[in-house]
Amino acid sequence: MFIFIKIYIKTYGCNINNFESENLFNNIKYYKILQTKIFFLSNLIFLNSCIIRKNSQIKILKELKKWFFIKTKKKLIIILTGCMVDFENFNKLKKLKIDIIINDISIFYLNKFLFFFFKYKKKIFLIKKKKYFNLKYNNKFILIMKGCNHNCTYCVIPQSKGREIYFSYKYIINSLIKKIKFKLQDITLLGQNVNSYNFGIINFNDLIYNISKIKNYNRINFFSSNLFDFNNDFYYIYKNIKKISSHIHLPIQSGSNYILRQMNRKYKVVKYLKFIKNIKKIKFTTFSTDIILGFPNEKFYDFDFSLKIIKKINFIDIYYFLYSKRKNTISYCFKENEIKIKKFKFFIFNNNIKSNLLIFINKILKAYVIGYINNNIFIGKLDNLKLVFFEYYSYKIIGNFIFVKIIKIFKNIFLGIYK
Ligand code: SF4
Repeated sequence: MFIFIKIYIKTYGCNINNFESENLFNNIKYYKILQTKIFFLSNLIFLNSCIIRKNSQIKILKELKKWFFIKTKKKLIIILTGCMVDFENFNKLKKLKIDIIINDISIFYLNKFLFFFFKYKKKIFLIKKKKYFNLKYNNKFILIMKGCNHNCTYCVIPQSKGREIYFSYKYIINSLIKKIKFKLQDITLLGQNVNSYNFGIINFNDLIYNISKIKNYNRINFFSSNLFDFNNDFYYIYKNIKKISSHIHLPIQSGSNYILRQMNRKYKVVKYLKFIKNIKKIKFTTFSTDIILGFPNEKFYDFDFSLKIIKKINFIDIYYFLYSKRKNTISYCFKENEIKIKKFKFFIFNNNIKSNLLIFINKILKAYVIGYINNNIFIGKLDNLKLVFFEYYSYKIIGNFIFVKIIKIFKNIFLGIYK
């Protein structure tokens, strides 16, 4: 039996994929594992794919070709998981020189698949469907749900990941309790549509409320949320639960109501603005967002609305992309903007983005101390996920929440004074 695995992990896509790849080892037993960052030194390649953007899909196929070539020269096992498995033509994938093809839910059974693969020397192709699942791993990221019940016209998630499934409430709470044992205090709840969590009678607000009851646990982040799944109770939760991070990532996608309708986003800009206003009334909160540029039928005045919205809301981070059409999406058959026009819009948008981080100067912010550079410069992670550097005299501060006054900002890095 082959028991020594030199594994090379390549991950594309979002935090959820990173989370799955990071936790891969928790699911592999019986084999001696060594992770390598150099792919040609490995004897097992694990590819966690994402095809939300066409570019990633192209890159993945290129990457696979490279590995197939190496496979002709040496013994190499290739495992493919992620969106590509659900979204690409499965029969086509099976014909490639990939040894194990499993979808993301099946990753948790990877140990078994490896066992069968080594024992019977047969390829494994499996897509496992499951409604709810319980896991035993620990990480500061906690996946609470997967999939999406919405149908944004440009998005492949509903097709690739399927409808929403939720981790059991019991599993989430139990894994948090374990994490607290390891003094991990900063956690992020993850999900494609995290705030639509709905496990039986427990919704997202209830979940946060119950998580906040756990002692010695300080900050809760969540990613990625959508406006249409917040209800009014969230304001109450946000106001009363101090542990919720004061940074929210809230994709708007466009500043034009017409384009939002074309995207089937089910809200108007005014509702988005109202939500932000209400949240900011509760406490100092920062926002980041996603914007798609050059969506089909986007006229210059629609684009201008997007420019206006970024000026109106001081987003501290904007993730903006040129629209690219994806197969099996509703917008696939929409008439696209000319590529020249899309690129021009991207150029203009890019030049209109200015750093809004200056709003933090002289603010006193909460940071979780994650380490140090030398014996008196320490590093903290702020609610807005940026790093802050500050002076202190004792290592005991590491792993604690502190307050720092921000005095300078260089690019994305903050300098602060311990308060
Ligand atoms: S809510 Fe998000 S994940 Fe769901 S369809 Fe829309 S863009 Fe895709």
